[in-house]
Amino acid sequence: MTNSFPYCGFRFPIIAAEYELIKVNATDILFNGIYGRHVRIKNIHPVVRSVVHLCDGTQSTEDIVSKTTELHKVSPDSVINILMQLYKKGVIKDNFEHEMPEWMSESDMDRYKTLLYWFDGFCEEGETPYEFMGKLKHKRVGIIGVGGTGSLISMMLAATGIGYLRLVDGDVVERSNLVRQIFYSESSVGSMKVDVLGECVRGLNPSVALQLIPKFITSCDELPSLIRDLDFVFLQADEPRFVLNRWVNKACVEYGVPYINSFANLIGPIFVPGKSPCFACVEQHIKSTFPTEYYDSVILGLQSSRPRKYPSIASGITLTAHYQFNDAIAYLTGIFPPITANGAIKLSLQSPFGEIEEIARNDDCPVCGETYVV
Ligand SMILES: [Zn+2]
Repeated sequence: MTNSFPYCGFRFPIIAAEYELIKVNATDILFNGIYGRHVRIKNIHPVVRSVVHLCDGTQSTEDIVSKTTELHKVSPDSVINILMQLYKKGVIKDNFEHEMPEWMSESDMDRYKTLLYWFDGFCEEGETPYEFMGKLKHKRVGIIGVGGTGSLISMMLAATGIGYLRLVDGDVVERSNLVRQIFYSESSVGSMKVDVLGECVRGLNPSVALQLIPKFITSCDELPSLIRDLDFVFLQADEPRFVLNRWVNKACVEYGVPYINSFANLIGPIFVPGKSPCFACVEQHIKSTFPTEYYDSVILGLQSSRPRKYPSIASGITLTAHYQFNDAIAYLTGIFPPITANGAIKLSLQSPFGEIEEIARNDDCPVCGETYVV
């Protein structure tokens, strides 16, 4: 469709999804923003009021100009100017629903409309939310370990329209899991977690291509075939303790596959090849805070014992899943910089929402330093 108002840029202006238009009184209107930002127009001019009400996303810019000029006997330029002023205040946008790409069906639009609104909130001039959705649709993601956090991340990725998910876990559902692994149920006790979760993912979003791998990782040699064709990996398993982190880290560094995990009370950092610290860098960082032999003996001690049944509650998985998921979406779409790119989020009883602990990439790192010399 050609735009006869190239100096305006809008084709179908609409009030931005994050705002709700409220009539405050006879003379004032308020754009009430869900993110706490509000725009109030006092003593609104009748021409502005008409333009605002015509911005419903169904009327073209030409229609809005034509109707307003006819009703109020004003110039087309003055109407365009009003549209631009509203745009600069962030309260109107172009209605992206008129530009639906070929790969998106009506059913997709029905499903993803509010997610597209969310992406639209980050769009720079000239971008559309479809670009971000399109990227996710073509991404292949692996989840190693589908306990509490891994299962929640899997479902969130499915809800967000990820193209492909590979779920890797050799564990079966135990009754004691059910206080926090909320996608499993009494009837699934004894079943393979990947099988049960796979059904949940299919039920949530049948368009996600799924590969279920019901096995534990028992050697470093198994990693390459599990990760090298992926765009991103979530490491959410914790056995063999520390060794698995090192195996996954080594393979991801070698094959240039980004990943994220949570480790002890740290979430992240996200590993982006050549740009952010790997797990060996993180270990080096932790070691620098106390004597090396102490760290090594603690690791050996932990490796020689089975993980305890730690205290847990259903809400415990939500923050670890939230931050890792958001950073993965940030990386995979480029929508904003991952917040753990240069550090880890440290959770504690004193700081339950987390604070960033800066962790630098180690140029002399024995794992990532040689491969990616700056
Ligand atoms: Zn490193």
